[in-house]
Amino acid sequence: MIKNPPPWPEGARCAVGFSFDVDAELVVHAAHGPGALDLPHAIAHMRYDPAVGLPRLVDLFADHEIPLTCFVPGWVIDTYPDAVECILRPGRNEIAHHGHLHLSPNQHSLDAQRRELEEGTRRIEQVTGNPPRGYRAPYYAASRHTFDLLIEGGFDYDSSLFADDVPILLDSGRGSLVELPVPASVDDYNQYVSSRAFDYLMKVSAPRHALEVYQAEFDAMWELGGLWVTAWHPAVSGRPAPALAVRDLIEHMLGKGEVWFATLGEIAAYVRRLIAEGSWAPRIERVPLLAAPVVETAPE
Ligand code: ZN
Repeated sequence: MIKNPPPWPEGARCAVGFSFDVDAELVVHAAHGPGALDLPHAIAHMRYDPAVGLPRLVDLFADHEIPLTCFVPGWVIDTYPDAVECILRPGRNEIAHHGHLHLSPNQHSLDAQRRELEEGTRRIEQVTGNPPRGYRAPYYAASRHTFDLLIEGGFDYDSSLFADDVPILLDSGRGSLVELPVPASVDDYNQYVSSRAFDYLMKVSAPRHALEVYQAEFDAMWELGGLWVTAWHPAVSGRPAPALAVRDLIEHMLGKGEVWFATLGEIAAYVRRLIAEGSWAPRIERVPLLAAPVVETAPE
């Protein structure tokens, strides 16, 4: 049912990239500006991210020797050096780019988008010694310019689009990005977040229900040879009951076996290698995805 699955390493049936967006309270600042000063409830909610949820999850994954990819905004890197150290301590985890102030690219000028990328990149270079390899747009809100800017900035991959079940290539004519798509159902906000401060009012799921959704997605990828990537948040999935559900999911995956667990940087590098060797060819999307509007007038 997946027409062109990549040949995953060591005969694995599918690839799994556990990735977390470590936003901390920056989402409150990005959404409310100075109004964040009067939202201590939301600020405290999201400080759970670096203070409690992230260390718990890093330990959980390290105990199972499964690597993580953490998308961390530049401001969070500056503000929470302990969180950065915690991510890097197990040795194989990756820190990837998630903006600097977590601004939606498609709501800001080209100059501001460029600045966000440069500032975030500088922070990642400071703490890892290397430029970031990958990017996820804050709120998935990539703009028409985002992919060009990433290619210009030397990024290897993006993971912002719900585009396919396997990696694809985004080609601008001047360069390319490996796109590592996120299944739309695998954002943990959809399962657990009910907060007016984040403008997100979902019915809170029982962790066993969320697990059922995640497990069904994973099982399908295992059967069909796809790539399964999460977009989770430590302040959401790092709370005790959801974290135990994550542990159950890891144990389910390990029980099935033949899974390649990797960082998104490792997956992108592997895809590039397959392309260079000519042993697999991904679907290619030209970017920008649209050259001109299809409908010329916006609704009244
Ligand atoms: Zn985010």
